[in-house]
Amino acid sequence: MAASVASAITPLFLRMTMQTLLAWFDEHARPLPWRIETVSPWESLLAEIILQQTRMETGIPYWERIRAAYPNPQSLAEDTEENLLHLWQGCGYYARARNLYKLAKTLDGEPLPKTYDELIQLPGIGPYTAAAVASISHGEPVACVDGNIRRVISRLRAEHMTDSQLNQEATALLNRTRSGDWNQAMMDLGSQICTPRNPKCQRCPIETDCLASKTEDPEHWPMRRTTKQQKVRAAVLVIDGSEGILLEAREGRTLGGLWGVPYAEGDVAKKQLLKGRRAEKIGSLRHDFTHKRLEVTVYTADAQDSDILRQPESVPLSTLDRKILSLYKAYQSEES
Ligand code: SF4
Repeated sequence: MAASVASAITPLFLRMTMQTLLAWFDEHARPLPWRIETVSPWESLLAEIILQQTRMETGIPYWERIRAAYPNPQSLAEDTEENLLHLWQGCGYYARARNLYKLAKTLDGEPLPKTYDELIQLPGIGPYTAAAVASISHGEPVACVDGNIRRVISRLRAEHMTDSQLNQEATALLNRTRSGDWNQAMMDLGSQICTPRNPKCQRCPIETDCLASKTEDPEHWPMRRTTKQQKVRAAVLVIDGSEGILLEAREGRTLGGLWGVPYAEGDVAKKQLLKGRRAEKIGSLRHDFTHKRLEVTVYTADAQDSDILRQPESVPLSTLDRKILSLYKAYQSEES
């Protein structure tokens, strides 16, 4: 049924009605820091990368901090990856920070390119980020598709669409004279009005054209993308001494570049972790990554002469490790 109603709406009619979206954006755009003041394309890129997987309220302080430390790509290229990770700690999805560092190194003193085709060649920049920076900072008529825009378009058409269909539809709808504003208007609509649950159709500027709003369940679109979390049991060991804590450099895609307490997954590795230590179990905690739910048992042991200890503040730590150290601190205060 949806497809037949969709084909009854001519593209011209749809585009004319969609102009109301820009009028709505002019009045209701979220007062985000990078909209209130004029920011460079580099600062715009930082915002896009940080906010891809981080909530707005959490991401804004990171954006402020990172742009102040690195006002251009060259200033980042001249620093260390570890210093960037230190500023990024707690923001999650650390591959973003590592890619940002690679990007700054790749530019090698050159300014950030302007076009979609050039931006997308850089490390860590995908179609969404390239389109956002090219359209918002340089007015290139290229459409963005993020989770918010995917939701708005799927509901507008009341169709479960493939990525390629979504891209085509976003390009067809794009206002080519105000492409940056258009993309941001679509994102704001998705985050403020066409929310995943309880979309506010009565306040929506494109309600007239929206097919999902004519149904009893607009939330039916888009199809949910479920990620199955694997449950994993892990053990960690907090080794404390007068000069700090034993911390190791983490490896791998998720936490590579950060530091953390000795960590093991599975029974065999746990035995190895605790071998030769008089370890005491002090508690447990749970931590979620996108694909993994960790059940972590926390042990502590005294430092030995061969242990290299560091102050936790001196290195970048993941949220998981900061949770572990908080649990350890709480245990220490109960003991004292
Ligand atoms: S009318 Fe409702 S379902 Fe349609 S785009 Fe607006 S908020 Fe979303």
